[in-house]
Amino acid sequence: QGDLELVHLTKRYGDTVAVDDISHIFAPASYVCLLGPSGCGKSSTLRMIAGHESVSSGGIVLHGADISNLPPAQRGTAMMFQNYALFPHLTVRDNVAFSLRMKGVDKATRHRKAMALLDLVDMAHLADRLPAQLSGGQQQRVALARALITEPRVLLLDEPLSALDPFLRIRMRAELKRLQRELGITFLHVTHGQDEALALADECVVMNRAVIEQAGPPREVWGAP
Ligand code: ADP
Ligand code: ADP
Repeated sequence: QGDLELVHLTKRYGDTVAVDDISHIFAPASYVCLLGPSGCGKSSTLRMIAGHESVSSGGIVLHGADISNLPPAQRGTAMMFQNYALFPHLTVRDNVAFSLRMKGVDKATRHRKAMALLDLVDMAHLADRLPAQLSGGQQQRVALARALITEPRVLLLDEPLSALDPFLRIRMRAELKRLQRELGITFLHVTHGQDEALALADECVVMNRAVIEQAGPPREVWGAP
């Protein structure tokens, strides 16, 4: 019994088959890194799971229910992007609370939940700042809190660390692993870096030319270092 399951998932853009009939079961609460050369279908897979891209055929099952036709906000997934995409005119707190505001949650509850998540990513003390007043690493923590406020069961990360300097990147890895343990949710993280996958992943899924070529613990995929 998996948390998240891809069932014969396929994505076509015109004549291009970006994802070709992939099936995979992700273990509950695991940290999964999705790897492979540029153009192999990683982002398309992530976007289909998030609901930002339609499925051409096949299904996406989360806790036994097919979510592939649900709107993004109702899937139990959340996505964090490479460029963070924070709203520049909103404070850190209001950025994090944004999706709750869209759902009509009252102000006091919004603020309480936003502050709890900012606390989790160690950013509560900067809640009144604007994104432009934050460093890259701080903006990324805010983006994480903003993704987590919807209480997703699966957090999707598309190369979240690629814009950070090497020092911060290593710190954020530890941060992501801590969050995985504390929250007990599945992380599905697209990365180009084998070192990143070795540091983070319980399981590595390697794609090539639109299919899954290999999957397993990092040490099995690359041999024991
Ligand atoms: P990456 O290699 O990091 O996955 P890409 O440069 O392939 O990123 O893609 C960046 C964006 O451009 C994505 O949103 C993707 O949907 C879009 N894109 C990629 N390839 C094409 C294409 N052939 N036609 C139209 N849009 C594309
Ligand atoms: P990756 O994330 O592994 O770089 P993508 O999922 O972005 O791969 O792309 C897989 C394939 O689908 C590539 O050939 C890319 O050019 C194509 N593609 C991606 N997005 C689009 C799009 N919006 N329109 C057309 N082709 C796309």
